[in-house]
Order: sequence, then structure tokens, then C-alpha cells
Amino acid sequence: MKNTTANTTIKKVQKRASVLPKDSKAKGNFDYLMEYVKNKFQIKFPSKDFHEAWAAYNQLQNFKISENVETVGGITEEAHYIMRTITEYHFNQAFKAMKIDMNDPNVGGEKGTPYRMAKMYCGSDLNDASELLSGRWSHRPEMASFPNENDQKYPITKRVDIVSVCSHHTAPFSTLFRDGSYALISYIPDKKVLGISKLQRIVDWVARRGHLQENLTKMIYDEVCQAAESESVYIKLSGLVHTCESLRGTQSNEGAFSSEYYGGAFKNFEIRREVSHQ
Ligand SMILES: [Zn+2]
Repeated sequence: MKNTTANTTIKKVQKRASVLPKDSKAKGNFDYLMEYVKNKFQIKFPSKDFHEAWAAYNQLQNFKISENVETVGGITEEAHYIMRTITEYHFNQAFKAMKIDMNDPNVGGEKGTPYRMAKMYCGSDLNDASELLSGRWSHRPEMASFPNENDQKYPITKRVDIVSVCSHHTAPFSTLFRDGSYALISYIPDKKVLGISKLQRIVDWVARRGHLQENLTKMIYDEVCQAAESESVYIKLSGLVHTCESLRGTQSNEGAFSSEYYGGAFKNFEIRREVSHQ
């Protein structure tokens, strides 16, 4: 009698287990996730302590999609790798939820689409400035500045490109999708002159996060003000195409969007107009 009851129980457990996703048969999903991350971590960082990095990642506070991890005290390279690998795991789960065939060699595999998406959203490491959301994680670029020896007081203007994603859809918006679209940065030096070649890098660092264009414009303004130690700064983002509008939803081609932010001497419209036409 006892044996029969035990057999029935085993059968019941087996029956229940067979309807669970394959991954969670033996262990809880969380254990499976941790093991998945740990295995990859130990290949990547054979001499580092996994549990220490795991704890560091878990202690990290949330920060806004438009902010950099410096806002919450920074992150180690190991904890960043854990974040990226957990993200990859969940993208994998999302693909399975959407019934996407993971045996498709263009999607599945060790470095398949979930891996590529996690890299695109998280960056490869803390020095990677080339991904769509890498500005949330990468180190702040050095902005070289020099004494304003000749006491220049005229506007210094440069056009740069913007690559960003909207915080509503994480769909790209950019100056690169339409002729004549640009991001203009102009400032009037006070005691310091900026190494202007670095402006594109600082703009990239701020822009490659999730943004509303208006807020991005203000954030670039703040960065340039801080670096130049001058509030006479003018930022104009002109004719940016938002793909969440042009390629989906309303699919409007009319949606190119302009915004500006300025302070100090640029409150004067004539000066703004002058530098806009340079
Ligand atoms: Zn959007």
C-alpha cells in the first residue's frame, strides 16, 4: 500500500513537471538564471569572485533611462557583465514567450539575437561608447579645456550628430535620417576654451540613452555649461527624425522635430540666428 501511494505521488510530480518550461524542471527559475550567469561569468573572469560581483550588481540602485550609472555611484566591470548577461537571459525568455524559433541559426545560438540585443542596450563594457544605450554605462569622456588666453568673447560653434532612442519605445531618433538635420552647439567662452573635437564624444555620451528630445537638449546644455564654465550656451537640435513615429504608429514623414535650449548671451535672438546660419 505504502509503495503505491509513493508511486502515485511520483507520477503526480512528474506530470506537473512535464508542463513546466524545460528550463525550470529541476530548479526554480531563479536558480537557473543564477547558474546561467555564473557559468558565463567564470569563463569571462576566471580569477574573479562571482558572488561578490553578483552582490555588487544586486545592490545597485535603479536609475533613470536618461541617466548614467555614475548617478548611483558607478559600477564595476564585473557587475556590468552580470547585468548584461541577466538582460541577455531575459531577452531569450521574451523571444521564447513570443514563440520565436530559437533553432533558427539567424536568431538562436550562443551569441544569437538575445546576446546581440543585450549588447546593443547595455554596451560591451564600460568603455564601449558605440551602442544605442551605452551612455547609461560608459565612463564620462574627458573634455579637454584650455585657458582663454586671448580673451575670446565671440561664439564658438560646432555641428555634431545625435544618435539616441526615445524613452517611450526605445526606437532610435537621430540627425542621420534626413538631409539638413543637425545638432548645433554654440558657446561663448569665459575663462576656458573647450577642446572642440571632444564635443561629439560628450554629446554621444549624453545622447546614447533613452530620452525625450526636449530633455536631451537641456542635458546637453548642462554638460556644455559645466565643461565651459559659462552659461552662454546654445543647443539646437534641428529636424530629427523619430523612428517610433516615422516607421510605425502614424508612420508620419512630417514628424521631424526641432528643439532648442539656451542661456546667458544667447537669450538675444539675433545672436542665436547668427550662429544658426554659420
Ligand atoms: Zn517613441
